[in-house]
Amino acid sequence: MKGWTINVLDLGGHPIYNCRTEKFKERLCLLVQDAYGMFSEVQLQTLCSAENIEQHSRRWEGKSCILAGMRILQRTTRGRALGLFSLIDSLWPPLVPLKVPGQSQDCEPIKTDLPLPSFCYILTAQSDPKHINVDEEGQVTNFYQPPTVRGLKEILQVDDCNQRCSFWAQVIYRRLQVKCSASVGQKEFCLFVTDLTLQDGRKGDSRTPKTVPIYFAMSCVLTKEVMEALTTASHCVIFFKDALRGNGRIICVERTVLSLQKPLLFTAAEADFRELTGPVKLDELDSTTVANSICTIRGTVSGVNESTAFSWPTCNRCNGKLEPSPHPSGSYYCSLCSQTVILPVLKMQLEVFLYCPSQPHCTVKVKLLQKTISSLLMSSSTEDGSYEVKNVLGKEVGLLNCYVQSVTNLPSCVGLEEITLLEAGRN
Ligand SMILES: [Zn+2]
Repeated sequence: MKGWTINVLDLGGHPIYNCRTEKFKERLCLLVQDAYGMFSEVQLQTLCSAENIEQHSRRWEGKSCILAGMRILQRTTRGRALGLFSLIDSLWPPLVPLKVPGQSQDCEPIKTDLPLPSFCYILTAQSDPKHINVDEEGQVTNFYQPPTVRGLKEILQVDDCNQRCSFWAQVIYRRLQVKCSASVGQKEFCLFVTDLTLQDGRKGDSRTPKTVPIYFAMSCVLTKEVMEALTTASHCVIFFKDALRGNGRIICVERTVLSLQKPLLFTAAEADFRELTGPVKLDELDSTTVANSICTIRGTVSGVNESTAFSWPTCNRCNGKLEPSPHPSGSYYCSLCSQTVILPVLKMQLEVFLYCPSQPHCTVKVKLLQKTISSLLMSSSTEDGSYEVKNVLGKEVGLLNCYVQSVTNLPSCVGLEEITLLEAGRN
């Protein structure tokens, strides 16, 4: 094949499973379109680290390039590559008139009723860069349409049928080990995010949640930079490019790109994240609350789940677990600090039942965090300093931020776990 001029419309990551090494290897994939409107995906073998994906995205996206020496891996169709075609659909129809095979020049006016593409070639180059000649300094091609950046509220309102969406969002909570029915092919964590359009929702606008979970398919490639940002204790703002909206969820899949930086090729107004002005608000627990969401509650303690309540002494220096001391003088020993601990800190696990005025007929069970347990016990200790479970009954708790583990109807019952949201960043 001689040089073939194409336009790079999108870059993303795509992991390929290697049966021999039993590992995923990341590949850079370019979604390209030629002057006739035909789409192809070019998979590059050697540029495989996730860092490269973002780098190349910044350098190549929207540029024209010349391909040579490509090998056709397959001709794929809509039915076989839903993820790929959801991306193609987001770039269709083209912005410029297409050439027609057999006709000499661009005589076709722009058509808006062009049928959706039904097939796409998957191409590969063995030794990459010399087969791809990108004019990095060149103009952005007329074929390029940057993804439309929308607010989360608008994205949630769109009927979802495998549509790609791009948005800025503030990550306020990470959840590991998400239990879900379709756990196959899904990473074991999920992010709860929000933006100004969700936070601004009026009272009574019960259809728009204040926060939304973002799921991750195994096929989503994350850069080290993003992973690091996600594992810190403070919240971060992330740009999600080409996430998939489908089956009532937002999922990051193959070719979805997460980045902490402003994308290059956007109009100024769209490219900026509108900072949240106040503290993050969550939805209050009500009859529309679903499992795997986050909410706030307020209520009075109506019972204690005594079968799950227990306490253990911890080290006052390192929070580590303690062993009985070998010395007769001290009662505990910390093996991490190699010291006898005279004044251990008592930690507790406590699950309580709450009566919530907003949900009077619902059994609300909450696994509390240490800080709430401490303040609950502090206010209910007897004169001799001991705690009695019955003394916490009738105490008020809240507002608590909670993760919803389970929701059942008949009887109406909600299982919650108190959580700490990621702290607001310092800058
Ligand atoms: Zn210690």
